[in-house]
Formats: sequence, C-alpha cells, structure tokens
Amino acid sequence: MSNQQNGITPRYNPLESMQKRFDEAVKILGLDEQFANVLRVPNKVVAANIPVTMDDGTIKVFEAYRVVHSSHLGPSKGGIRYSMDVNLDEVKALAAWMTWKCAVVNVPYGGAKGGIKCNPREMSKGELERLTRGYTLAMRNVFGPDQDIPAPDMGTSAQEMAWIVDEYSKIVGQNAWAVVTGKPLILGGSLGRVEATGRGVMVSTRSAMVKLGMKPTETTCVVQGFGNVGSISAKLIAQLGVKIVGISDVTGGYYNPDGINVNEALSYVANSPLRSLDGFKGGKNISNAELLELPCDVLVPAAMEDQITPENADRIKAKLIVEGANGPTTADADAILNKKGIMVVPDILANAGGVTVSYFEWVQNRLGYYWTEERVNRRADRVMKQSFDNVFAASEKYGVNMRIAAYLVSIDKVASTLKLRGSF
Ligand code: NAD
Repeated sequence: MSNQQNGITPRYNPLESMQKRFDEAVKILGLDEQFANVLRVPNKVVAANIPVTMDDGTIKVFEAYRVVHSSHLGPSKGGIRYSMDVNLDEVKALAAWMTWKCAVVNVPYGGAKGGIKCNPREMSKGELERLTRGYTLAMRNVFGPDQDIPAPDMGTSAQEMAWIVDEYSKIVGQNAWAVVTGKPLILGGSLGRVEATGRGVMVSTRSAMVKLGMKPTETTCVVQGFGNVGSISAKLIAQLGVKIVGISDVTGGYYNPDGINVNEALSYVANSPLRSLDGFKGGKNISNAELLELPCDVLVPAAMEDQITPENADRIKAKLIVEGANGPTTADADAILNKKGIMVVPDILANAGGVTVSYFEWVQNRLGYYWTEERVNRRADRVMKQSFDNVFAASEKYGVNMRIAAYLVSIDKVASTLKLRGSF
C-alpha cells in the first residue's frame, strides 16, 4: 500500500526528481536557458472532472488529467494511469519522462501522460467503461492519431484501450485504430505488445550484465512488482539463466534463496481471485521494504515511483539496478547509489520497450499490414540494444552515470529539434 493510499502525504515529488536530473543534464550540455525553459515544463495541461453513474445509481465525480509535455519530435505518446495516487505533479513528471524515453530510443513521438484518481480494483466493469468513455469525451480535442496517442499504464489494460478506440471512433465517425496503442489484438493491437516492456527490461539487463562481466548462471535477481512489467521481466530474465530469488506485489514480498519458480508464481496469480501473489507459498513472506534490500546481484524495481530513496539506498546490495517502473529512484538517492558503484539502467531507457512496440503498433495500424511476433520482437530487441549502447557510449564520453547519460542523449535530441523548428 503506498503512502497516499494510506492517507499520508508522499514525501517525494516525482516532478522534482525529473527536474533535478533535467537541470543537471542541461548544465552539462550547456543548453541555452531559453530552450531549457521550454522543455522544463509541460506544453499543455488538461484537467477534467468526470461524472460517472455508479452501479447503485449514485453519481460520483472523478478527477482526471492529460498532460502533453512535448510534441517536438511527433505526436505525443503516453499511458493512462488509474490509481488513487494520481496527482498533477506525478502526471507532469510521467509526461516528461515519456518525452525523454521516446527520444532515447529514437521513436518519432513527443511525450504525454494521463491519469484518473480512482481505485479500479473497487469498480465494476460497467463503471470502468463509463469512466473511460467519459474521459475520452473530455479529452476528444487532445487525443488523435497525429496529435496525442494514449496507451495502458498502471491500472489500465487492453480493455480500456478498446473502449477509448470505440468512443473516439464514434466522435470522429470512422474507425480510428491508431488513436491508442496497447489495444486487444482483434482491434488492431500488435503481437508482442503485452510482453514488450518486460522484454525490453530483459534486453537492458542482458546488455548491462555483459558490460559488468556478470554470467547469467551465476547471477541472482530480485523483482519488485508482479504486474505487466514485473512478471514478464521476471519470466524473461529467468529464461536467461538468472536465478530469481525475490518477487513482490502490493500484498508483500516473497524470498527464496534457492530460486523462485516464476512460472508457478504466474499461474498462482492467474488463478487467485484478486490476481495477486497474496498467499503464494514459493518463498518466505517478507515486506516490500525488505525485498529491496535482499542480497542479490540485480534489482528490478517494476512497481511504482519513489521506492529507492535516501532512506534505503545505502542498504541496497545489488550491483545492478534496472528500472522497469517509471521513477522508482528519487533524485537524492542517485548520489548514494553512484557512490556505492551500482550501475543503474534508468527508466527512460530500461522500460522503453513498451513505447517502442506501441510505435510499431501505430505503424501497423496506419499501414493496415500486420507483422509477425518474431518481426516485432527482433526489431524491438535491436532498438533496445542499440539504445543501451548509445547511452553507455554517452556515459563514457561525458564521464557520467547511465541516468544522466540517457537524459543527455534525449534532451540534446529534443532541443536540437526545437532549435531547428524555432518554436511550436
Ligand atoms: P500493473 O498495474 O500491471 O502492475 C503493478 C504491480 O505493482 C502490481 O503487481 C502491483 O501489485 C504492484 N504494486 C503496486 N503498488 C505497490 C507497492 N506499493 N509496493 C509493491 N508493489 C506494488 O502496472 P505495470 O504496467 O506493470 O506498471 C508498473 C510500472 O512500470 C509503472 O511505474 C509504470 O508506469 C511502468 N511502465 C509500464 C509500462 C507498460 O507497458 N505497462 C511501460 C513503461 C513503464
């Protein structure tokens, strides 16, 4: 349970975390202040209150946002999050991270993010459908295949994307498949999209392990979060021969130094009524805080923001952190991890496999021609590997860590576009 769900004000602000790294990279690049000022803040912030008739006949109002950070490289792109933790600063940070992420993997998009403050676990399918359709109507002038293209994020899935495509298509009077990505296959989704983020995390982990001289069969790994990103990352990293010794979800952590059978955990979740690890017997039950500090070689935070902070960074034992989640490390924790010599493959690089295959989905929608899974995976793996190598080269060139290197690569790219265009 996160701080906000407990009614406690969160101590860390992801927008401040984003801006601290941005400022550091801008200084190294020597970027003109007037360009930095444009990119430091979002281009557009749309807020809406969505009234929804609940199943019991009452009307409830939901707070909703869509933030477009940048459209300099192309239409803006970014997921929609359904969570009680949603707040405007978080959405602004996530939107900016999308800009940097797309630039780092050379996907021709800008960055955006959406969020609705709600608890999807407590809502019926009908209530979620009415909320999603209401949100689409409220954002009809923001969304568009050449304007702004949403996708799933925490608390949303292919089903919400299907409702958005349907509602938006009604508004424009024709099927508009390319208005969202992460759709069900039958509605123009792409093979490989569901696994894409976790697959990219695996490719990033593999690339970093090669640089650090870590042999998969002699390596242990802990994964926090067992949703789309965490579960697929754990499964694919285990397939490299790495031993997964810890996994977790919102219900708690599970530790087994002899190795957790990830496939068993996956089927346990699939068959549990709340689709959680609660009661999983494949490891000793521990807390999420303990999980992050377990003895292991690789740590993959793949749940949510602000998990590695100045309070626990010093006790992290992993040599390599690969950020499956967005913003799992606060800016102040970076220095501590640096000092300990831990390599961090940052979120805007490590979890960019999702947006890469979202881009492939959009391309396929516009071509009306669909690729095989093998083609999708091959192209996505190539992008992820090349992007890792580019960021690694930048980290060596500038003598900075991988996070700042990723910001340098992406800010430089977006700022160059801004300079050439002059405004927008
Ligand atoms: P999800 O909703 O499928 O899964 C989230 C997981 O985190 C669940 O297992 C949940 O139980 C767990 N969790 C939630 N709160 C927790 C807490 N306080 N402590 C420990 N575990 C907790 O979401 P997802 O799509 O896997 O996204 C996870 C992260 O990855 C988010 O930061 C998201 O922005 C990021 N991300 C997702 C994608 C994607 O394609 N889905 C792409 C890029 C980045």
